[in-house]
Amino acid sequence: MFCPKCRYEYVGGIMECPKCKVLLIEKLTQNNEAPLKPEYSSLVTVFATADLGLLAIVKSILDGAGIKYFAKGEMLQGILPVQSGAFNAVVEIQVRNNDADDARALLKA
Ligand SMILES: [Zn+2]
Repeated sequence: MFCPKCRYEYVGGIMECPKCKVLLIEKLTQNNEAPLKPEYSSLVTVFATADLGLLAIVKSILDGAGIKYFAKGEMLQGILPVQSGAFNAVVEIQVRNNDADDARALLKA
């Protein structure tokens, strides 16, 4: 079972994420979307954080604005064991050049 908010995996009959207080889901659906391919366009980093909660907020803002993004470094966090919360991998949010100004304006608020 996964937390849809912080994306942690939980096992052993846990139904709710103790961190986010949201119900766990069986599968994370976000991974089904094809990620933006960095080689197709020049990407600009508009945000960088090691905080997965903050990352989720930034993503939802960009999703809401219809801006496609690439989360560089996120794959690294995905392969780590559940207990390694102390590991601080910085994830960079990158967007296409022509979306960069819009993304920065949104994230400044
Ligand atoms: Zn959670």
